[in-house]
Amino acid sequence: MPGNPATTDRKETCPLFSEFALHERLLKGLEALSFETPTPVQTAAIPPAIAGDDLHVIAQTGSGKTAAFVLPLLQRLIEAEGQPTAPRALILLPTRELARQIISEVQLFAKFTFIKAELITGGEDFKVQSAKMRKGPDIIIATPGRALEHLAANSLDLSAIEVLVLDEADRMLDMGFTEDVMKLANACPATRQTLLFSATKGNAALQRVVEQVQRTPRLLQLSTVRDDTPAITQQVIPVDDQPHKEALLKWLLTNQSEAKAIVFTNTRIMADRLNGVLRAMDMRVYVLHGEKDQKDRKLAVERFKQGGTGVLVATDVAARGLDIDELDLVINFDMPRSGDDYLHRIGRTGRAGAEGLAISLVAPHEWNLMCSIERYLRRQFERRIVKEVPNSFKGPKKVKASGKPVGSKKKKDDKKKDGKNRPKSAKPAAKRKPARAPSGQVVTSSDGLAPPKRRS
Ligand code: AMP
Repeated sequence: MPGNPATTDRKETCPLFSEFALHERLLKGLEALSFETPTPVQTAAIPPAIAGDDLHVIAQTGSGKTAAFVLPLLQRLIEAEGQPTAPRALILLPTRELARQIISEVQLFAKFTFIKAELITGGEDFKVQSAKMRKGPDIIIATPGRALEHLAANSLDLSAIEVLVLDEADRMLDMGFTEDVMKLANACPATRQTLLFSATKGNAALQRVVEQVQRTPRLLQLSTVRDDTPAITQQVIPVDDQPHKEALLKWLLTNQSEAKAIVFTNTRIMADRLNGVLRAMDMRVYVLHGEKDQKDRKLAVERFKQGGTGVLVATDVAARGLDIDELDLVINFDMPRSGDDYLHRIGRTGRAGAEGLAISLVAPHEWNLMCSIERYLRRQFERRIVKEVPNSFKGPKKVKASGKPVGSKKKKDDKKKDGKNRPKSAKPAAKRKPARAPSGQVVTSSDGLAPPKRRS
């Protein structure tokens, strides 16, 4: 477990864990972990969750949100006697890696209790999982697909669930699990408590799920981009093309990371390619993407976590929610497709109060996308040039107030002319979806224009 994200001044204003109505066995577990001061999300969520309220909490990974739902959940299981034969709590998460991470945290928090948790994720033996469930665990931590399979096979009984947690709910829905989540929620008793956590406000689909699975939930919005990323320096380096990106990547990994780094790509093919490129440099490299089999993914994460240094090349889905100590550098080799993906990626560093550096390598064709992400986050990334790997593209020469290059949109007159000259058979170009409007922004203030200076 990494160090305490609590700052010294927070100590003066925040309560201590011992001030919450937590069982002494849980306090003992916290003491063993050297957790003294709750993080803001824990301060906000633990008391109403203990009181039994449904909560919709908007908080980033790295904010301490796991303890914010695990502690009240354990408290409830300790306090009230339940049906010993069926699980009493279900925690649903989007990925296997995240599920494994959460179960180890649950086990640490529950160390001095008799509460048992089991993991149900894809990629593991179904029969072995069924056998584990027959042993009567109190908590099930699962990815939705496999949980539903067990429900259909009657090896998972949700009739005694008292607390349902949907962690990283926004991502779970993005990954197409909406229907599975709804089915699982409907199989739990209507009287259950539902705690829903998302890193972003989410879209209409998330709102619909909230309405259907929760009873007048309290909305706790803790996460704003500015609050959550103050320790992360965010930079953009304009690049010419793919070979230039690779040259920069090698330079950055050699010169900018003293510990561990993650490199994000948009495709599995690119992740595999970079794996080869970096291995040829004798680096300790691990790859994580959806096409790797479960055993390899597990091994990659474990080895990467254990070593003091190394590089993990990953696609978004595979690296979601990973909590890795001493991760000081995130590189967006490809620009992420949305502001939310950007936030999730850079959130891998600067965790638990540590400093982090996030660098995006932006080719000319990605410049508009990068500007849309800046607008979405209401933040301007620091522009940077690496002298040692010179580039000719320095960003567009003339930019509009939005930061996009002048001339990136056709003038009305041109459009008319195009229409007149276009052969009758040719169809007009399909309308492009507009970049995401700033309406879904997580930040309400726009003064994050000068990111903190950290390294040159
Ligand atoms: P999470 O957002 O739950 O993934 O937590 C991020 C990291 O902060 C994890 O490694 C936690 O173990 C750690 N952490 C969470 N809450 C506290 C706390 N109150 N004191 C110290 N460390 C914490």
